[in-house]
Amino acid sequence: MTDFKTILGSGKDASPKRFHPWVFSGAIKKTRQHSDGREVEPQEGDIVTVYSNKDEYLGTGHYSTHASIAIRIITFEEEAIDQNFWNKRIQNAVDYRKKIGVLNAETNIYRLVHAEGDLLPGLIIDVYGNTAVIQAHSVGMYKALENIKTALQLSLGDSLKCIFQKSKETLPKEYAQNIENGYLLKDAEPTHHALEYGNTFNISWEDGQKTGFFIDQRENRFLLGKYSKGKNVLNTFCYSGGFSVYALKAGATLVHSVDASARAMDLTDKNIALNPTSGEHKSFTEDTFDFLEKNDCSIYDVVVLDPPAFAKHHSVKHNAVQGYKRLNMTALKQMKSGSILFTFSCSQAIDMPLFYGTILSAAILAGKKVRVMHQLSQPADHPINIFHQESSYLKGLVLEVE
Ligand code: SAH
Repeated sequence: MTDFKTILGSGKDASPKRFHPWVFSGAIKKTRQHSDGREVEPQEGDIVTVYSNKDEYLGTGHYSTHASIAIRIITFEEEAIDQNFWNKRIQNAVDYRKKIGVLNAETNIYRLVHAEGDLLPGLIIDVYGNTAVIQAHSVGMYKALENIKTALQLSLGDSLKCIFQKSKETLPKEYAQNIENGYLLKDAEPTHHALEYGNTFNISWEDGQKTGFFIDQRENRFLLGKYSKGKNVLNTFCYSGGFSVYALKAGATLVHSVDASARAMDLTDKNIALNPTSGEHKSFTEDTFDFLEKNDCSIYDVVVLDPPAFAKHHSVKHNAVQGYKRLNMTALKQMKSGSILFTFSCSQAIDMPLFYGTILSAAILAGKKVRVMHQLSQPADHPINIFHQESSYLKGLVLEVE
């Protein structure tokens, strides 16, 4: 039992009763102190228990003072949030990854905790060989880091040598200004070179994007390999060149990688060098829209479009749809008959039917007949919480241009 009892307004309990882990600030009637019943405002990151207006227990979660998501529920059971709680939950995440077999002789890069998908909203843990990289997206999770560290050491044992905490970018600004990223554990040299399907990648969590690598595209990169032998491949928004490495390893004749960030292109070049092949590779530090407009893209047999989230919020959904439409139309217009487009959206606010419709519009505008070869999503180490539609964020379509 925690000291704060948050009571929801009348009729506001439907969402937590359906196991949706977010409580919006507008749903809260008041918060009382358990000990003396006084009305209080909890502090950023405090643990609160959530009750309906009829005094039914609903869940326990982390409180945010200024966010529209005021509480992120971390359990729907009436239980203490102590070390035992964290041990159980991290062990559960480890057991699940064992079940799906994500860690094996060829792959030691995987997501161990996927926020709401593991009913730990606000917490991301990615593993690269002997190193776990933690990103806390809520102050509550940040405050639990010592518990999480202990639980990780218990569950992963000797295979875990380093833990890097990288929450400065993901916590609310007022809070983040007083913290620094850094190692919580460093018992050996961290695994900066890690493996995915036997490909070696240089992972840069200290200064790279997110936790250092876009693990969520693993299975889609693997699929691209199947269509790359003897082909010319264009990989746009390439970041550290994941798709390019798979294409070259699979025997692509030529791969062009494009990203607006010079740092990303530097990582791409390093990763290409780590995985020697006979195919030709060229890097372009350029805006993808400019690249597509300036170059003759009919030379490519396979094109990848994997832009960053155009819509981080529902309010900008319309603009995002226009962005995806323009991007896909520009590429499709130039693509030759028989070529293949891998196109993605990682925007939470754009669901598959909307993405599908957007790509359909792009094909119509480009005047191209296409057929859908694959409908893609995120891999099993990024599980989707069925009660929380937002955790299904990655959508992809593989199209053949007729
Ligand atoms: N496909 C990558 C992940 C892409 S993340 C992988 O498999 O690892 C999105 C990337 O798009 C980032 O590296 C970012 O630098 C880049 N980016 C953002 N806007 C861009 C633009 N307009 N043109 C080119 N690259 C862009």
